[in-house]
Amino acid sequence: MHAQPMNDALTLHTLDVEAIRNDFPILKQESDPRLIYLDSAATSQTPDCVVNAMDEYYRTYNANIHRGIYRISEEATARYEEARKKIARFINARRSSQIVFTRNTTESINLVAYSWGSANIREGDEILVTVMEHHSNLLPWQLLAQRTGAKLRFIEITEEGLLQLDDLDRLLTERTRIVAMTHVSNVLGTINPIQDITAAAHAVGAKVLIDAAQSVPHLPVDVQQMDCDFLAFSGHKMCGPTGIGVLYGKLDLLEEMPPFLVGGSTIRSVQREHSIYADPPAKFEAGTPSIAEAIGLGAAVDYLRKVGLEAIYAHEHELLEYAHQKLSDIEGLTIYGPKPRQKTGAISLNLDGIHPHDLAGVLDVSGVAIRAGHHCAQPLMQQYDVIATARASFYLYNTLEEIDRLYDGLLTAKKIFTRRRR
Ligand code: PLP
Repeated sequence: MHAQPMNDALTLHTLDVEAIRNDFPILKQESDPRLIYLDSAATSQTPDCVVNAMDEYYRTYNANIHRGIYRISEEATARYEEARKKIARFINARRSSQIVFTRNTTESINLVAYSWGSANIREGDEILVTVMEHHSNLLPWQLLAQRTGAKLRFIEITEEGLLQLDDLDRLLTERTRIVAMTHVSNVLGTINPIQDITAAAHAVGAKVLIDAAQSVPHLPVDVQQMDCDFLAFSGHKMCGPTGIGVLYGKLDLLEEMPPFLVGGSTIRSVQREHSIYADPPAKFEAGTPSIAEAIGLGAAVDYLRKVGLEAIYAHEHELLEYAHQKLSDIEGLTIYGPKPRQKTGAISLNLDGIHPHDLAGVLDVSGVAIRAGHHCAQPLMQQYDVIATARASFYLYNTLEEIDRLYDGLLTAKKIFTRRRR
């Protein structure tokens, strides 16, 4: 028997979670033990509607896009472009041409660092990032700085895992060309105050790139309200397939930027020695794109809109409140990051004397899937003086009862490893 949720006041009321779980085939699989999936920050599960949309493409209109003068190619093109429009509406972009399809967040950020960066960053310029960045929003800027002689600067964090923004005035100078930062930390779950930082960056003439890999899936994101210049996210963390990501950009910037990868689809005309490139987004979508995956992402966006991002956010908030309350009575447990009201999605922790990989291994025996490691955020690990943490992350299909299973698993790990040490 698993413990009952300990606080009746925290009974979930914002979503019909049982109905939602029914939409996800993997969660309905018979297995012993039953799968408790708490790793959505790495990759979320996929609802039937997304699998069906991709299946329909392969079964009924599989063809390359933009070039075929025949029915199924025209249908594939229309559905691919329809997906782009859905994504533009989802993040409130003015025009669908501001949505560039990439493979993932990492590729979107590399595209900007290489293309915009090479055209705009010079020796002595400064690139401002934070210590809580995923490596995907750090390494592309490190390479750019090494190539150009620019300098990387860092917004530090408080012990609680919030950005130290009293430092911002000192860090943002007329040399700052771009601020590249995460909206939500993949380790701590911290939600950063993007609008304030964007306004301050623009006041010194800097551009702003937002890594929205952990925010677009979990809370309403409005690029016009944020006023960011670029925004990057991945399909596979928002109920969509792998192999598809998005770069949003302000149109004037996308128009000015040189292409990143070149080849088929990116051009208006090609001569022997030079070429004229197409307008965005085609300029940045070299070669045959991930057609089924873009269509699948369009279906995922329809699904998330139907459930409602406000409701998803509220649901995760309740899960986090419950998890913080329940887990904090385990002796020797450290939770990293801020209080639930300042975060979303994830809870990172360590149990005294037990390696996070061992914790994850014990939890796996009872079907609980969590992540353990540095979460591609080594500078953040260094800040907390740990080499790794265990991270449980939540999404629209998780329940309070699953958090009880996580709690039970942590107690089991504690028993096993305390016994071994005696
Ligand atoms: N940025 C953040 C905040 C992430 O959490 C992740 C993935 O975990 C990434 C970037 C990289 O995403 P992808 O592997 O889909 O490119």
